[in-house]
Amino acid sequence: MTEHTLTVAGVTVDTRHWIGGERIASAETFTDVSPIDGSALGEISRGTATEAAAAVAAAKAAFPGWAATARAERARILHAIADGVDKRIEDLAIVETHDNAALLRSHRRGVMPRVAHNFRFFADWLLKLEHEEFETRGHTNRVSWDPAGPCVLITPWNAPLMLATWKIAPALAAGNTVILKPAEWTPLTASLLADIAAEAGLPAGVLNVVQGYGAEAGNALVSHPDVRRISFTGSVPTAKAIGAASAANLVPTSFELGGKSPLLVFADADLDLAVDLAVEQYDNAGQVCLAATRILVEESVADEFTKRFAQKAATLQQGDPRDEATDLGPNIHPRQLEKIDGFVQRALAAGARAVIGGAPHTDLGGLYYRPTLLTDVAQDSEVVQEEVFGPVLTLQTFATEQEAVALANDTRFGLAATLATGDHERAARVTAQLVAGTVWVNCFFVRDLQAPFGGSRQSGVGREGGTWSFDFYCDLKNTVTAPKGWQNHG
Ligand code: NAD
Repeated sequence: MTEHTLTVAGVTVDTRHWIGGERIASAETFTDVSPIDGSALGEISRGTATEAAAAVAAAKAAFPGWAATARAERARILHAIADGVDKRIEDLAIVETHDNAALLRSHRRGVMPRVAHNFRFFADWLLKLEHEEFETRGHTNRVSWDPAGPCVLITPWNAPLMLATWKIAPALAAGNTVILKPAEWTPLTASLLADIAAEAGLPAGVLNVVQGYGAEAGNALVSHPDVRRISFTGSVPTAKAIGAASAANLVPTSFELGGKSPLLVFADADLDLAVDLAVEQYDNAGQVCLAATRILVEESVADEFTKRFAQKAATLQQGDPRDEATDLGPNIHPRQLEKIDGFVQRALAAGARAVIGGAPHTDLGGLYYRPTLLTDVAQDSEVVQEEVFGPVLTLQTFATEQEAVALANDTRFGLAATLATGDHERAARVTAQLVAGTVWVNCFFVRDLQAPFGGSRQSGVGREGGTWSFDFYCDLKNTVTAPKGWQNHG
């Protein structure tokens, strides 16, 4: 360990920013703490407007060269980054787990391979993007995706590297340069990615990483006049602040925000499957934007569903996220634990009943919250309407399909919805009426990078994925060419 590095389980991480191909330290630092045991992982350079301006300047300077780089060469370098990620999966997994306390086994086997896939997918998609052509009175229209310029990407802590690279990969593939600001609670894997990208031959200034607080480094980046795109994943209040800052410069923004998604369980469903889908919502200790946290069950099967749910949930192993056997780790931060418990205690005081859980896991100590299922909750209550972002689900019943749809749609969010039903016609009917960016029928979390991803209402603005990502990160241009010998008579 040197003045500018820290070590996590034997992996060395540089604690400085990555700007213009160089490590830059700030005068001030902030402490990165592991949610597993509250230990300090190290001191991280704390970016301000100065580092933000330097990173935007570096991205601006590197832009013409990268934008002019042939598509095949950009794709080759993105593949090299993916190979570099693959080589360091174990390092990335262990560091991410110490930083955000999500399960080591899912980082190893799901998340980090997906990080590599993000780069490969968008590199390959770039090569498949066809410039569309069509004719107008003999003239040819040619639509092209032109790189837009420096992109600011702001990401949260619940899936740090996965969410960052889902934005970085298409932005770079499109020929843009990038400034990433990772969440202050989880800055470490972004720093490792900077090393990997440099080793893969990504030119200096094409990817920059500025660490620091949202109100400081983040705000300076999203307010900078030389930025051409802002893509943000995080909470609704932050999106509103970023929207106001970006509006001043008329910068296109993409917002992937929170949710309060429903799981609709109809009496004709395979009940064991429905229970599995419901219990899966405790993944990542409930810190998943897409989680179906409102379980809506048809009255006639509600008792049986609840009984089987409680049995299944009782088999979940709560504990250290580094253990293979653990299903549920701690939450991210004392502030988050307090927030989660606040929601639950206010709901209980208002008459809710905890079928399971309802309190922090005091035997384990630290930041563990017991997986909780609340019934007897009113539709307009806080716990039904607001995102808790912890292992807390509510259960309500419905009598008719119409009522199920009405309850499902009755929040200010619209990120996702999940249905359990044995009737395909019902699935089609209900799906057509749901307000959601993604609907899963008899499954959950099946995601393809070529699908549009995003939320309706306050769950987001815009869609990313496949060509939608390129539409966002590029300036679309239509070039109209007259046929040979054409005389323009006005
Ligand atoms: P957050 O909004 O508090 O912070 C997200 C990021 O924004 C952090 O990097 C933070 O530093 C930065 N930030 C804060 N204020 C800023 C400002 N004024 N200007 C610029 N940047 C600023 O969110 P969080 O608590 O880190 O993440 C949890 C939220 O993210 C939940 O609401 C969750 O649902 C949502 N989320 C959504 C998706 C999705 O794809 N829709 C995925 C994961 C998480």
